[in-house]
Amino acid sequence: MAAGRAPSEVTLVGVTKGFPASDLALLAELGVLDVGEARDQEARAKLAELAELGQLEPAPGAAAANLRWHVIGRLQTNKARSVAGYAHLVHTVDRPELAAALGKAASTLREADGSRGPLGVLAQASLDGDPGRGGVAEGDLPALLDAIAQQPALTLRGLMVVAPRDGDPGVHFARAAAWMELARAHIGPLSVLSAGMSGDFEAAIAHGATHVRVGTALLGYRAPILG
Ligand SMILES: *Cc1c(COP(=O)(O)O)cnc(C)c1O
Repeated sequence: MAAGRAPSEVTLVGVTKGFPASDLALLAELGVLDVGEARDQEARAKLAELAELGQLEPAPGAAAANLRWHVIGRLQTNKARSVAGYAHLVHTVDRPELAAALGKAASTLREADGSRGPLGVLAQASLDGDPGRGGVAEGDLPALLDAIAQQPALTLRGLMVVAPRDGDPGVHFARAAAWMELARAHIGPLSVLSAGMSGDFEAAIAHGATHVRVGTALLGYRAPILG
């Protein structure tokens, strides 16, 4: 790899928002088992559709049963219960209230099913302090990390960033790497940096991204999702 990092160090999350459930089944067949969805409603519809496909004989959706669902869109607290039910990793925890809502939901699910592990989450940080794309400003990051760590049914695994549209992505992701170090100094070991999309994943990988979220470069053009 150009960045001198082994492919096994980086997880490709296939971003499937705006694409049909059949594309998730196809990605699963190709070995892309990590899928990213931005909206709870859309993810739930695809889960239901894939479950139906999996029941057919021969089952075209068989590989899709092993999918790991990544939540990458802004999340309202009233969706916490739903998301905690299927998410492998919630990338977009951007405020203490959301950490509390997810913690409560995950705890309820674990009481009902003792075999469930804690829910993995990332703290989303805003690299330019612009709340438009979600994420806490640098100064609010320690409090968010603390709020997540307080929830026994959540496991804080790292940070997530979306690079600002303007400027050199390398500069933005260098800042993300520095914030990883600050976060580790504050809270302890963290293994995940979710950074990089179709347009900038190479720069993100060069700066330590462990998860890249790639839609367009994998599946092609997607009509903008409005609202
Ligand atoms: C849509 C989306 C992506 C994927 O973007 P592409 O440019 O299609 O690769 C990645 N991350 C987040 C948070 C997204 O909303």
